[in-house]
This record gives sequence, structure tokens and C-alpha cells, in this order.
Amino acid sequence: MCASSTDQPGTTPRVLPAAVAPQGPALRRRGVRRVLEAKDYIDGIRCCDRGILGRAFSLMESHVPAHRVVASEVLNGILSRTGNAVRLGISGVPGAGKSTLIEALGMKLTGKGHKVAVLAVDPSSAISGGSILGDKTRMEKLALHESAMVRPSAAGRLLGGVARGTRESVLVCEAAGYDVVIVETVGVGQSESAVASMVDFFLLLMLTGGGDELQGIKRGVLELADGIAINKADGENARRAQVACTELRSALRLLRPSDGAHWAPKVLPCSAVTGVGLDDLWQMVRDYEAVMKETGRRSEKRRLQAAQWMTQATEALVLERFFAQDAVRQEREALRHAVEEGQMAPLAAAERLAALAQHSTSSEKKGTRES
Ligand code: GDP
Repeated sequence: MCASSTDQPGTTPRVLPAAVAPQGPALRRRGVRRVLEAKDYIDGIRCCDRGILGRAFSLMESHVPAHRVVASEVLNGILSRTGNAVRLGISGVPGAGKSTLIEALGMKLTGKGHKVAVLAVDPSSAISGGSILGDKTRMEKLALHESAMVRPSAAGRLLGGVARGTRESVLVCEAAGYDVVIVETVGVGQSESAVASMVDFFLLLMLTGGGDELQGIKRGVLELADGIAINKADGENARRAQVACTELRSALRLLRPSDGAHWAPKVLPCSAVTGVGLDDLWQMVRDYEAVMKETGRRSEKRRLQAAQWMTQATEALVLERFFAQDAVRQEREALRHAVEEGQMAPLAAAERLAALAQHSTSSEKKGTRES
């Protein structure tokens, strides 16, 4: 099927399978793309065909019901080829150096024979319509590397705090043979916990701040981190970064006593520009993977994440479908008006609206019995 295997790190077959090859020059000139079936996607993903991969990511993000049906089929078709990558989440404020670090680390890893995929998730693009991650050219060198792939931020509605389809895109990357998948996000809203819930290792990238390192960091985020890297530990900043590391280590010991835990989060300095500390950073991720695998914690964590994701996705889909119903939309408008005008208590309005869900479920059941 594929001209060469894509499962080996460092190889990037570019041959289009016959089933997904463009349908002739005339079609290509007009910019018409053949509609792909699930099998075309599955074959293309397995062959690590970049054209198909791009379309597969868009498919995973799509809201169109027909696309979702295909997406589910594709995911089921590739599932047996997933799970083999190191899943690494990286978060930090804008300017912390995430893209510089990911590019430097990614280039290092491709040099060691890894295949690296980066999924950049930008919650701001969905919230404000603007983009923190996507408006500049990022990770240019890595994006052009034959053993790497960078998928820019996906704008669009959020599902559980991240762009829809990110988890599914991780699976697509794994099935395509990428053995390191990095999910990058800006620390906004729920994005950190959403990313932490889909990766093995969650890295927080920080900067020194003249002794007030702990200020401005949400405690919850520190609790999520499996490791913290103080970036820009170069030049005059190198010493301050060391001091910041020491302070953070003691703070973490208080916040997260490691009693009985398999892994105590580590803090280290690094510089994405000079490359200092990047080997230590990768070693930290590898050590973590080793401990987690040895103790069976990695599969346990992934099982939990998958089950949680199913619950969250179900909730989101049920809500979406509920609010898409005409009757619900009309009633919601009327109730919203009544609540805004102080004619009805919000909770009472919510009860009335929620009753419509019960109503539609019982009439659906009745319809099923009668048919
Ligand atoms: P992001 O917004 O977190 O992705 O941050 P960027 O990677 O775009 O980096 C923001 C700025 O910090 C850029 O001007 C980088 O060149 C610079 N930068 C990133 N990493 C380092 C580093 O390790 N040392 C120094 N001195 N500058 C860095």
C-alpha cells in the first residue's frame, strides 16, 4: 500500500496512494478536491501523506455532522496503530519562548531519528477571534523538516477548553508514525488542564521575574505540571534562572509533597536559544516515561484520559444537539428575555428549558417503540 514504511523514525514517504491521488490535472487546476472516504483517509494517514494528514486534521475539527461520521470511522480504523508516541504538552505565557523551544527541541529530536509532530492549540483564536500563536511565522525550520510536522493553531469552537479535534489529531499523528507528539498551548482559560488531560507529560515553561516567580502562576497550573522549565537561562539571566529554580523547587515541595507518588515534578533551567538544558529537559521526559511505564501508570493514565474524554465529548455533543433544536432555540430566547427583565428566576428558567430535554427524549423513545 504505502511505497515505504512510515513507522520508522526519520523516514517520510511522500507517495500518494492510488485511492487518494488527485483526479487529473484539469481537476487540480480548478482547485476541485475529491471527496475522501474513510478508507482514503486511513490509507493516507498510514502512509504519512501530508496532504491527507492536513485534510484529516480538518476533518477532526469539523462541525459538519456528515464529517463527524467519517471522522469516527477514520478514528476507529487507525486506533490499533495509535498509542506509540511520547505525548508531551507544553504551556506558558506568550513570550515565554514556547515556539523557539519546541523548534530547538524538535530539531534535536529529529536529529536523533525521531519523527516529531507539533499541534499548536490557540484558545484565544476561539475566544476573541484573534490569535496569540498563529499570527507570526512559527517554527519555520521544524515545519520544513522532512521528519517533522507542525499543525498551526486551530481556530473554532472549543470543546473542553481546547480546539475541537486536538485529541483526535494526536491519534492521527501517532497512526502516521510520529513518535513524539507535542501539544502546545498558551496559558489561557481552561487550556492548560485540557492539554494536561491529553498528554503523558505536561511541561510548564516559565521566565524569571526578579524573585517573584510564584506570583501570577495559578496554583492549579503548578499542580498540573510534571515538569517546569525556566527558559531564557542565558547571558545575564542565567544566574537568576538558577535562583528561580531553587525557589520553585521548594515551593513545589510544599505544594505537592511526593509521598508515595511515582513522580515528583522537576524544575530545571534551559535556553531555547543557546540549547543549554534541552538535553536535560528531554531526559526528564524520558525518565518520566520510564517510571510511568514500569509502574503501569502510563497506561492507567491514558485509560483514564480516554474515559474522561468520552464523558466530556458526550456532554458537549448532547448539549450542542439540544440547543440546535428549533423548539429549544425559541423557548430559550423567550426565557432569556424573561430572565433579563427580572420576570423569572434564572434557575426556574433553566428548569423549564431542561424539561424540554426530557420531553424530547421521551417522545423519541415513544417514536422508536411505535416504529
Ligand atoms: P512564545 O510566544 O512562548 O512562543 O515565545 P517565542 O518562542 O515566540 O519567543 C518570544 C521571544 O523570546 C522571541 O524573541 C525569542 O527569540 C525569545 N526567546 C525565546 N527563547 C529564548 C531563550 O532561551 N533565550 C533568549 N534570550 N530569548 C529567547
